[in-house]
Amino acid sequence: MFGQTTAGELVADEITAWFGTHKVLDRVSLDMRAGEVTALIGPSGCGKSTFLRILNRMHELIPTASLAGAVRLDGGDVYDRTERITAARRNIGMVFQKPNPFPAMSIYDNVISGLKLSGIRASRAQKDVLVEDSLRKASLWDEVKDRLEQPGGGLSGGQQQRLCIARSLAVSPRVLLMDEPCSALDPTSTRRVEETIASLRGQVTIVIVTHNMQQAARVSDTTAFFLAGQGEPGAIVEYGDTRAMFEAPQDPRTHDYVNGRF
Ligand code: ADP
Ligand code: MG
Repeated sequence: MFGQTTAGELVADEITAWFGTHKVLDRVSLDMRAGEVTALIGPSGCGKSTFLRILNRMHELIPTASLAGAVRLDGGDVYDRTERITAARRNIGMVFQKPNPFPAMSIYDNVISGLKLSGIRASRAQKDVLVEDSLRKASLWDEVKDRLEQPGGGLSGGQQQRLCIARSLAVSPRVLLMDEPCSALDPTSTRRVEETIASLRGQVTIVIVTHNMQQAARVSDTTAFFLAGQGEPGAIVEYGDTRAMFEAPQDPRTHDYVNGRF
């Protein structure tokens, strides 16, 4: 599309992951195209969260975890050992199921809390602009503009989740990973988060795990269906254009899953 950024292409190449000797993902390859929304669907336990954590090097924080394969962001190796791990986190943000703002910290400071960690210096005026811009992108500005100095923990769950999205966006990531971001939210907040996702299309590459098939159909361009057989590691059964996947799935297991049969 005209004017769309080309930065933010994230490629997972033959990712295999273990916890100890337990293999939980088997040769997962996925191309998450720049500026698009990719939905990851599949039953619990098939490795979706593990896959997301691998994409931004959080997997490394788990002592028993290991992996094979590669992750590339715009052609660069995300696992480049000469780069600090914070570089990967800055480029690839993450939002979790349970909103986790710093509860005692002000809304304003929550939004800019990632700057220091990412080595970004900004004047007060620059921060003011960044806070407003990030909160607008997260569809939260109108609700909090008069109470920026109040603690983040005082917001509703849905507002806290959008605050976490604003915090992620403040460091200008190329990719935003979202692990069931709406599972703990009411329908109105869910709609707000979906609006935010829609408005970020073309600017940020988004990868969202969701158990809500309607949500996957509404927000994503591409869908990947993960499945783990009994005692088997998770793998991608099918992936492609979201509409095609929901209207005419190629694999009978995808058909059953998207129609709520397991
Ligand atoms: P999903 O997000 O699809 O529900 P997960 O990625 O959370 O799946 O889990 C995939 C598999 O890895 C499961 O068998 C789970 O028990 C296991 N697992 C996840 N996290 C850990 C961990 N920190 N240590 C050991 N096993 C884990
Ligand atoms: Mg999960």
